[in-house]
Amino acid sequence: MSDWEPRLGVELEDVVFGVERGELSIAGEPASRIKDAHGGALYAYDGVAVIRRVERLRRAIDDDVGIKYAVKANPYGPLLELLRGAVQGFDVASITEIEAALRAGAAPTDLSLAGPGKSDALLEAAVAHGVVISVESPHEIDRLVSLARERGAAPRILLRINPSFSLRGSGMHMGGIGSPFGIDVEEAPAVLANLPGELDFRGLHVFCGSQCLSSEALIEAHRNVFAMARELGHTAGRPLGALNVGAGFGVPYFPGDRPVDVEAVLGHFNDEAEALRAAHPGIDIELELGRWLVAEAGVYLCTVVDRKVSRGETFLITDGGMHHHLAASGNLGQVVKRNYPICVANRLDAERDEKVNVVGPLCTPLDVLARGVMLSRAAIGDTIAIFQSGAYGPTASPSGFLGHLPAGERLLR
Ligand SMILES: *Cc1c(COP(=O)(O)O)cnc(C)c1O
Repeated sequence: MSDWEPRLGVELEDVVFGVERGELSIAGEPASRIKDAHGGALYAYDGVAVIRRVERLRRAIDDDVGIKYAVKANPYGPLLELLRGAVQGFDVASITEIEAALRAGAAPTDLSLAGPGKSDALLEAAVAHGVVISVESPHEIDRLVSLARERGAAPRILLRINPSFSLRGSGMHMGGIGSPFGIDVEEAPAVLANLPGELDFRGLHVFCGSQCLSSEALIEAHRNVFAMARELGHTAGRPLGALNVGAGFGVPYFPGDRPVDVEAVLGHFNDEAEALRAAHPGIDIELELGRWLVAEAGVYLCTVVDRKVSRGETFLITDGGMHHHLAASGNLGQVVKRNYPICVANRLDAERDEKVNVVGPLCTPLDVLARGVMLSRAAIGDTIAIFQSGAYGPTASPSGFLGHLPAGERLLR
């Protein structure tokens, strides 16, 4: 088996795919065998690549900075079990995610809960388990105070701040604008001054964007986050116990995308963290990442069921589609559809000399996995592989739409 330098138009960093007799292998197993063993389209995750990612992050940050994994990026049970031993905690958003994290063996006190509009049941579950709660509105504070009185327990909280700045170059803007997330930084001093004694105030939470590939923009955003934390810490008039910083690291999906210079970004992060720690001794500083930890380790595999030519265009029709992989179809936040890195997994030694559209079985023209892409000539039964698919896959896709079978998932190690 030789390592495959993927000619994908994007640079993969910490995952090594193999090629054996012209076929892609994931964690040493041929793609079509993985797919046939499942009996349909599935996501295959390379566990070694995930761990390599965590270790790289660990090497680049100070020992006393915690790494939290945002479960929404990929809540697959075996992946959570793998990550549980490698990271310091999980960021969760729902009762389902709390339960998934606990099933994977996470300690409830290592969980943090964020998200607007938390239901009574969700707040109650979080308080009962001792999960740290990021509060996102004044009303949420009032509801937690009532819960604390009922239960005679002091919920641990972070104040989630909607900052005045945004993460430039980020795929989704989440700061500097009106937002359902967090409390506007302008309101934060008053909220901090009047925090009810029933709550165990731990510190601050900031998440200002996602899928950012600009190292400079990340460094600037982190600098702004730490400056804001220093200022609010000063206003609060007491040492902060915690600061949770959503990292926002992106991964390359499209030709021309370059990976984040994680080491450079975290070098600056370490300096900022050290400075904050001087003013707030013992503060728990945490990074919170989803996509960057898992996206690269995942490959989506599906089968060519039909091929046809229509008005001069060739269509490969597969048993996979947007009901499994909405992001690859371009319908999860892309403005203009661009193709994820893709190949015919069992024809890696053939030239990419045919221009095709790769589509799914759904009765909607939105169900396009790749448009006008150059691939090796695929036959019916061949395996299509889509890379960079480990994050925001099955659970970010409309699996009930048209009622086809859901995607399978498998962790390989
Ligand atoms: C979505 C989310 C994350 C993870 O974002 P990625 O871009 O996947 O790293 C982290 N924290 C919060 C609060 C989130 O909502």
